[in-house]
Amino acid sequence: MYQQVGECANTLANVPKNWRLCEIQAGLSQPCQQRTLRDWRAYLLARSHWPTVIQLTPVPSIILEGAIVMAILEEPIQELLELQNYIDGEWVDSEGEMRDVVNPATGRAIAHVPISTEAEFDQAVAAAQAAFADWRRMPALARARCLFRLKDLLEENFEELSRIQTMEHGKTIDESRGETRRGIEMCEVATGIPTLMMGQNLEDVASGIDEYLIRQPLGVFGIIGPYNFPFMVPMWFIPFAIATGNCVVVKPSSEDPISQIKIAELAEEAGIPAGVYNLVNGGRSVVSRMIQHPDIKGVAFVGSTPVARDVVYKGCGATGKRVIAQGGAKNFALVMPDADLPATIAACMTSFYGNAGQRCLANSNLVVVGEGLNPQEHQAFYRRVADAFAEAASKISIGYGLDESVQMGPLRDVAKKQRVVSYIEKGIAEGAKLVLDGRQFTIQGDYVPDAFLGPTVFEDVTPDMTIAKEEVFGPLGAVMKAANMDEAIQMIHANPFGNAASIFTGSGKWAREFQHRVECGNIGINIGIAAPMAMFPFSGMKDSFFGDLHGQGQDVVRFFTESKVVIQRWF
Ligand code: NAD
Repeated sequence: MYQQVGECANTLANVPKNWRLCEIQAGLSQPCQQRTLRDWRAYLLARSHWPTVIQLTPVPSIILEGAIVMAILEEPIQELLELQNYIDGEWVDSEGEMRDVVNPATGRAIAHVPISTEAEFDQAVAAAQAAFADWRRMPALARARCLFRLKDLLEENFEELSRIQTMEHGKTIDESRGETRRGIEMCEVATGIPTLMMGQNLEDVASGIDEYLIRQPLGVFGIIGPYNFPFMVPMWFIPFAIATGNCVVVKPSSEDPISQIKIAELAEEAGIPAGVYNLVNGGRSVVSRMIQHPDIKGVAFVGSTPVARDVVYKGCGATGKRVIAQGGAKNFALVMPDADLPATIAACMTSFYGNAGQRCLANSNLVVVGEGLNPQEHQAFYRRVADAFAEAASKISIGYGLDESVQMGPLRDVAKKQRVVSYIEKGIAEGAKLVLDGRQFTIQGDYVPDAFLGPTVFEDVTPDMTIAKEEVFGPLGAVMKAANMDEAIQMIHANPFGNAASIFTGSGKWAREFQHRVECGNIGINIGIAAPMAMFPFSGMKDSFFGDLHGQGQDVVRFFTESKVVIQRWF
């Protein structure tokens, strides 16, 4: 959708913020047209918050000094998508019930997604099983080449993929770009499979006897994603599963499945053979069937703790499958008296409120630690931290994620906002002090007001309060106090989750003590979002993780392979 917004550069102010400049028809009275165009580009980039001016078109007929500025609302999904399943290299309709996929900001349905039947899932497994025999025999380098092509296609479609995430999930376009980047990195690391998959060898384990270990793929794996990272999370597993010679059936979250559909389209374009990569949309029944299916060798799941533990981990245990089951979280950030306060607060804003708090690595309890301080000093330090935190949170701009100036989008849907609102009510009822009330925020314009919630800050939160104990999964920060590091670590350990924890300090001694003692899988030291890169495992402990080997890195290569040991002697 194009809109002509003005006839000289100062009309840029008329471009709505969620539109992007796409074309400037510049007046070219000067002899050097190219120079003029370059000048215009520089001028516009310097003065607007839109990072890309896609095209500058010289229009000799316009002789005035000035420009016609065209803008585009760059929503890559313009028409309602009828989503299909991708089975055995074919796009096929499902016989299951169709549900709406709704853009949470605008309320517009952007796709219909099928809730596929168990029989359709079985077809995908049969295709994957049939493809396995040839795929596992393909040399590791050849499999890696498919991933190189997929990576290139993901890069080529980077912006569109990112904008789709914002449309189907609600996160800001910058958050989506970050998610796309992290997902592509999984593909990049998995292209190293010829090295990652190497075995071990020892000559003369006994006289004249050699022994070696080889890693082999197992067959068909199921991959199940949550709604909060629709692009990235399934990518923690897909490239590694395929690179190791396995075949996959992916079930995205039915709330925002479009990103995975796009990945499947690109996988097809990249030449990944039919049956190696399958996608079946659906809900619980597909998950149950995946756990029961005799030809599924293992399941990689990411989602909430009750489903991770009670459905997937226990189910896979009963049916004898390998399992990675990553669950929910409740993450603490400690602020020590020697922390760099401005840098700490800045890191906390993205940690607590990024992705509207819908992130398993989001910190949600900010513990101001009084280590080495007397009570009065501790109180003064607490005041400084709490005030700075609330002030910064109050400045976060909220709106439609495609607007480049927005720092926080809506919750994924109205029910999820209501859930967070109920936590705010519990916080008030249990005696916490509400210093920033996100419920007061109202969105301007043609958006869904019931999906947006402003950043919320509670002070004087104690560990026994519901908002300090449970996973809120929304933009709610709880400011707490601990007399010293021991007390702060006890708070973390009293919580059933163990996904991540952060410490902000200038002291190597405290940082080391923290990383050594804290029972959480991912530790941030002066880092608010302790997200491991693709070459490291994405860890997790206690109620945040069920299984042995983790996603990403060497762990996931081992998850997707069987170790076979050969002992040989020649007479
Ligand atoms: P969810 O558990 O509701 O859903 C996850 C997946 O399981 C979806 O594909 C869904 O269709 C399916 N599912 C839902 N209920 C099911 C049931 N009863 N039986 C079988 N399948 C079922 O999780 P969500 O709301 O999509 O995602 C948010 C949760 O995921 C949060 O708790 C968050 O902390 C967690 N998460 C954890 C990590 C991690 O690395 N530990 C990463 C991202 C998200």
